[in-house]
Amino acid sequence: MSQLTVDIGGSPGINCRGFCEYCYFKHVKGVQPLGCRYCLPFKKGCDYCTRGVKEEYAGFKDLKSIADETLANLQSRTGNLDRITISGGGDPSCYPRFTELIELLGSMEAPLHIGYTSGKGWDDPAIADLLIDNGLSEISFTVFATDPELRKRYMHDPTPEVSLKIIERLCESVDVYAAAVVLPGINDGIILENTCAWLDECGAKGIILMRFANAQEQGLILGNGPIIPGQSVQSVESFKKLISDIQGKFAMKISGTPLWDPEIGSPFAILQKPDLMKKLPRVECRASIISGSVAAPFIERVLHACGSRDSVIPVHKEIACLITADDIRNLDLNLVNETIIIPGRAFVHESELQELVSKDGTHRIGIRGPEMLTADAETSMGMTRDEVLAMEMDGFAELIQTINRFGQPYDRE
Ligand code: SF4
Repeated sequence: MSQLTVDIGGSPGINCRGFCEYCYFKHVKGVQPLGCRYCLPFKKGCDYCTRGVKEEYAGFKDLKSIADETLANLQSRTGNLDRITISGGGDPSCYPRFTELIELLGSMEAPLHIGYTSGKGWDDPAIADLLIDNGLSEISFTVFATDPELRKRYMHDPTPEVSLKIIERLCESVDVYAAAVVLPGINDGIILENTCAWLDECGAKGIILMRFANAQEQGLILGNGPIIPGQSVQSVESFKKLISDIQGKFAMKISGTPLWDPEIGSPFAILQKPDLMKKLPRVECRASIISGSVAAPFIERVLHACGSRDSVIPVHKEIACLITADDIRNLDLNLVNETIIIPGRAFVHESELQELVSKDGTHRIGIRGPEMLTADAETSMGMTRDEVLAMEMDGFAELIQTINRFGQPYDRE
């Protein structure tokens, strides 16, 4: 399958007609590089963990640059083009020459995907037909709420009724996946039910609900919390319950992040498949697996089913992929053994990891584990259960191989 990603550039908030009230990029200032899996071994900080994670680009690219890059990318590939995805730091709906951009990409006659838009840059309902006529096949559209006043107040959409008309029309011909950050007391409860009912009636394929985060331990790693001072935040468990309660009421798919996708049973759908877990390699060595506080108990259950005798150690941070060096610094080293495995995507530079895990004078090795052990709702939205299970099998097989390669064998204890 040949896919082309067209990066239009831009920065969140800046190329979005202003920040949405809940935007995680609000208040981000000059943050020091975090360190990550892409950094060179001798240098903490690379383009990804310095600029990419903040999606900090110089503004939208001009149309000519996009056209030139797209042409160059097209020339370097063979075979049919199966999908063109528009992505970028800014919101595509705010791209200044959007009509020309879509006509340009539409002329390639491949299905178009818009990976993310808030729609607040569109002020004319005719945009929906422009998109349909140029081959749009899938779009992820932030709705927040279908109450226009709330959209206006929290997303700063100057023409919320137009955005809703566009969603309605797109739902007739395109796979529309809606998204909403849930702010307790603002767009939950009856407002959320009304939003889901409206989208369901329009024919949306699904909605991803995102638990709002307002503090560092909930995942704000850019030093910019609180995003909305005083705004309450749901616990992960109460958010999961919200998803369970609402999902049966509508035909479209409803899932949540960080938990959960009830249709697939993910994250960690593998826990409901003991026969599959039996096919994983056996854990034969001791290693301290570090994870976020949400994933740790799930990972521990899978590893115990595969023979591990160790606990998975949660850090204070809830989301594993957002673990930083501070989380490792705060680990109780009395609880870990000689081999420490952190999540593959953690924002920790490897030489700093080595230093931090040996800072009490005991030599330990710190290893980066697999990038993904499961699919969150954003990943699983377009996937089948078998695809998610295959992803989890691959992730856990890799983790167990890492444990067995770098850990201390149980049979020597
Ligand atoms: S549209 Fe998205 S990226 Fe832009 S300000 Fe709103 S939440 Fe942030």
